[in-house]
This record gives sequence, C-alpha cells and structure tokens, in this order.
Amino acid sequence: MRAVVTGGAGFLGSHLCDRLIAEGWNVLVLDNLVTGADSNIGHLWSHPNFRIARCDVSKYIDVPGPVDYVLHFASPASPVDYLKLPIQTLKVGALGTHNALGLALAKKAKFFLSSTSECYGDPEISPQHEEYWGHVNPIGPRGVYDEAKRFAEAMTMAYHRYHGVDTHIVRIFNTYGPRMRLNDGRALPNFVHQALTGKPMTVYGDGKQTRSFCFVSDLIEGIYRLMQSDEHLPVNIGNPHEITMMEFAERVRSHFENAPAIVLEPLPQDDPKQRCPDIAKAKRILKWEPKVPLDEGLRVTLDYFKKEFAANKTA
Ligand code: UDP
Repeated sequence: MRAVVTGGAGFLGSHLCDRLIAEGWNVLVLDNLVTGADSNIGHLWSHPNFRIARCDVSKYIDVPGPVDYVLHFASPASPVDYLKLPIQTLKVGALGTHNALGLALAKKAKFFLSSTSECYGDPEISPQHEEYWGHVNPIGPRGVYDEAKRFAEAMTMAYHRYHGVDTHIVRIFNTYGPRMRLNDGRALPNFVHQALTGKPMTVYGDGKQTRSFCFVSDLIEGIYRLMQSDEHLPVNIGNPHEITMMEFAERVRSHFENAPAIVLEPLPQDDPKQRCPDIAKAKRILKWEPKVPLDEGLRVTLDYFKKEFAANKTA
C-alpha cells in the first residue's frame, strides 16, 4: 500500500509518516519545507519504503505510479505562522486541497483531510461537537486559516458526493509533542523558549481563555483509526481535558527548576475564548479516547525541547 502525505515533514505529518511506515506502508512525502523541517524525517531517509519530494502542493501535483491513499497535512498551523504566511495558508488550504483531491481521484485512492477546531472559530458553545457550524470571522487575522480549512472541508465533501472519492476529515484540536518548532509562536513552545532563555512566560489576555491539549501519540492513533473507518463526515480528535491558559502556563512552569515569572500581554484579535472537543463521536465510531496525561506528555515534550535548544546553541 502506498500513501502520499502532503506536509509530511511537519510536526503532525512526520509523526503520521512514522506510524504509516511502522504499519508497513510505502510513503511518499510532498513538502515545500516552509514550516516543516528535514530533521523531522531525517531518521526515515534511509528506510526503503520512504521518499520525499520537495514541492509546493498548491501548484500541480505530479506523482508517477499507483497511490492508495492521499493524506493532506500541508499547511502552516500556528497563528503566528499563518499571520506571516497568509496567502500561502489560503492557497494550501484551498488550491492544495483541490490538487490533493484531484490526485486521489486520478489514482482511485482514498483521501484524508487534516482539518481543525478552528472551523468552529470563537465558539458560542462548549464543548464543540461536529454538528456545530462555528463562529468564524472571515476577514479577521485568523480567517486565512479558518476559512481555507472550511473551504477544504466543503471541497472534500463535494469530491465525496460528486465523484464518489472515499474521503475522511479529522478536526484536530490543540496538539503538542516532540517536533513542534521552538519558534512556532504557539503557547507551549513560547513558554518553553522563554523559560530556557530566562525570560518571563507571556500569557495573553487575562489567561482565562481555555484550550485542551492532546499529546501527539494519542492524536495519531485517532487519525490512524479514522483513516480505516467508513466515516466520511468530520470527526473531532482532541483531548477533552480543558484548562485555562494561566493554569497551563503554571503547569509548564512547574517542570522547570528555576521557575520563570508569568507576565500578561494583550490578547491577539479573535483569539477563541474557549476550546474543548466533544469526542463522543470518536469514542463511538473509532473506540478512541486519549490516554496520555498532560504532565507525562509535557515531560516528554520538554525533554525534546531542551535537547533541541542545547543542540542549536552549540551549532
Ligand atoms: N498564548 C499565550 N501566550 C503565548 C502564546 C499563546 O497566552 O505566548 C495563548 C493564545 O492567546 C491562545 C492560547 O495561548 O489563547 C493558545 O494559543 P496557540 O497559539 O498555542 O494556539 P491556538 O489555540 O490559539 O490556535
């Protein structure tokens, strides 16, 4: 079985590649390395079932030979990244999804879309279940990501309904783990980088906004199950353990001997006030729920960040 993984050199894409290779798949990664990194998949280069082609999937995708599964994971995914790369973010969510679907159709392959809890925007209900249509500002700074992913879901459903492509959509909630970039601007890498450089940890707003953090191995397990399921409508995958950002900062802080101070900074525009997945559907149809407790996941992730930080300092 051969899979094409767009964005396979990214944080989540690379963990997905590890899983696919471990399950015996032949994997071709397509990545332009705008936010991904060679180092995320360096350990796979010599594997006989693994290949990477450097290309921009927002342009035409050309893959010779048979393909059984196209998994579209390419996109900037941190708010800081998609603010820096607004046009690329819109293009990879819209044109990239169209191209990846076109490849799946041409190869008679299955298709898997990595979508996002950002489809719910700044939600008016919590937890968010899959039938909720969301509360998104289309022209705000986050609109480039949110609307591209909403378009991507619409396009995926159209290819399923009109062309009969066997499609799957996961809505990914906040995920963390090794291979996140220390400088990607998200809360956890920011807090860790600040702690490692002796700066105060910056909590935005009053810190009462909530998120729910899922460790990457749990997320990949949910994705792998959804890949093999018969479900075509979106499925939330995330950890329903909801905490405020202030509590989260304090949990991260407790992992450092020289605990840094916490300072408040202004809340970015349209920052969702609450985010928590309703995972009843994933539990029911995939028999999936997350297993890794926050402190255990944080310990593993912080070890990774500390090693990366030390390696870059000496490089
Ligand atoms: N955040 C924070 N300090 C930071 C970075 C982010 O308090 O240094 C907050 C951000 O405002 C948001 C939450 O942490 O409320 C999660 O932000 P992140 O960028 O990780 O992802 P998001 O869930 O917003 O996509």
